[in-house]
Amino acid sequence: MGKITGGCRCGAVRYEAEGTAAHHALCHCRDCQMASGAPVLAWLAMPAEGFSVTQGEPVRYTAPSGSMRAFCGTCGTPLFFVNEAVLPGIVDIQSVTLDEPDAIPPQAQIQLAERRSYMAALDTLPGFDRFPGEG
Ligand SMILES: [Zn+2]
Ligand SMILES: [Zn+2]
Repeated sequence: MGKITGGCRCGAVRYEAEGTAAHHALCHCRDCQMASGAPVLAWLAMPAEGFSVTQGEPVRYTAPSGSMRAFCGTCGTPLFFVNEAVLPGIVDIQSVTLDEPDAIPPQAQIQLAERRSYMAALDTLPGFDRFPGEG
């Protein structure tokens, strides 16, 4: 894989990563839910030595668990995660913030033990390309 790039919604923070992804997983854990306000997060594990922030400086919050989560202090987009004890040598990138979020499809769902109950039956909900009544 070549260089991949991404950043936050407002454009203040940009990053790039190089190397081979270790894994790409959808995480349902409570920690991810609370850090993002979303029911599930997509994480692309990239080698730390190939990762760099190329513009701006994200806010970094380290939880008591030792997990550091970086996010844009202006627009709030969660960007990446580091926990040397759990994932040594890895920067876990929130892959939806990549410029090409679909380029590397996720291979697994993890932390299903903490998945919100409604997420298991997501396919049974009616779906709309935009909103109900808009065709
Ligand atoms: Zn931003
Ligand atoms: Zn998680």
